[in-house]
Amino acid sequence: AAKDIGRGEHCFFDPAMQEAISQRLLLEEDIVRGLAAKEFGVYFQPQFNDEHQLIGVESLVRWHHFERGLLSPFAFIEVAEAAGIMKKIDEVVMLRACEQMAAWSTVAGLSDITVSINVSPAQLYQTGFVEEVLAVVKQTGADLRRLKLEITESMLVTDMNQAISRMRELKAAGIRFSIDDFGTGYSSLQYLQQLPLDQLKIDQSFVRGLPEDASSLAIIRAVIAMAHSLGLEVIAEGVETQTQRDILLANGCQLYQGYLYAKPLPAAKIAELVAINND
Ligand code: C2E
Ligand code: MG
Ligand code: MG
Ligand code: MG
Repeated sequence: AAKDIGRGEHCFFDPAMQEAISQRLLLEEDIVRGLAAKEFGVYFQPQFNDEHQLIGVESLVRWHHFERGLLSPFAFIEVAEAAGIMKKIDEVVMLRACEQMAAWSTVAGLSDITVSINVSPAQLYQTGFVEEVLAVVKQTGADLRRLKLEITESMLVTDMNQAISRMRELKAAGIRFSIDDFGTGYSSLQYLQQLPLDQLKIDQSFVRGLPEDASSLAIIRAVIAMAHSLGLEVIAEGVETQTQRDILLANGCQLYQGYLYAKPLPAAKIAELVAINND
């Protein structure tokens, strides 16, 4: 530890910290390499209504690392954001998700579903964000009205006015918005009213508390009530058990996403899932 060294310059010579820094740099270089090698792709997690109909999918980035296998966003997003290279990953996700939506537009059971995409914090504030999204939609032939962008509360604090005006522009073009991980960030009821939202997404940390935890249930009820009074759709993420689903339904939440239904899947598996259900 630093105090064992007992010098002013200790931090620079802390071997553990040195190791952590070089690990980050290696990962950063590896992300750049992975992007060039086209190792980044998108999985889609199904979303269902209370009649067990597939109503949408969420696009979730995956890194198919040639050596390390399939990597979840937790393994690279933080470093990519800090290094300023998340933009490249965002571009891949936006393009793949829109291409996939266009491809599904002729498939029975998939032609009407919404496709959600997670917007990264820096992405929302990039110059030309609105134009870029609209350009990808046009280029791929995706349906604007079935595209849903997920933003988080914490993203809004950077520049609320800028965020609102960009969201309103995209909303005016026909794109929908969802607030992801709702209830975990800085919440102001006043901003909720100003944002052109369509959906609130109950964070999985609250769903995980069901059925035992009374405060999780209290928060879930409050979120559902608020969504309804603002005229917004509400969806729960991280639904893993039938009991959780039943409690959500009993409290007025009719849309679900979670392992109870399906894990995030490659696009081909989504088509298979629908083909089976149509039989
Ligand atoms: P998120 O947007 O809240 O996505 C939900 C996460 O919960 C996904 O993790 C999903 O696989 C996981 N999940 C879904 N159902 C269940 C369940 O029943 N139980 C449990 N325990 N987990 C469940 P994933 O794919 O690892 O993504 C993690 C986070 O990384 C996402 O959280 C999102 O914040 C971010 N992320 C993922 N893909 C993208 C992307 O393309 N762009 C950006 N900017 N962020 C992304
Ligand atoms: Mg999300
Ligand atoms: Mg979420
Ligand atoms: Mg979450």
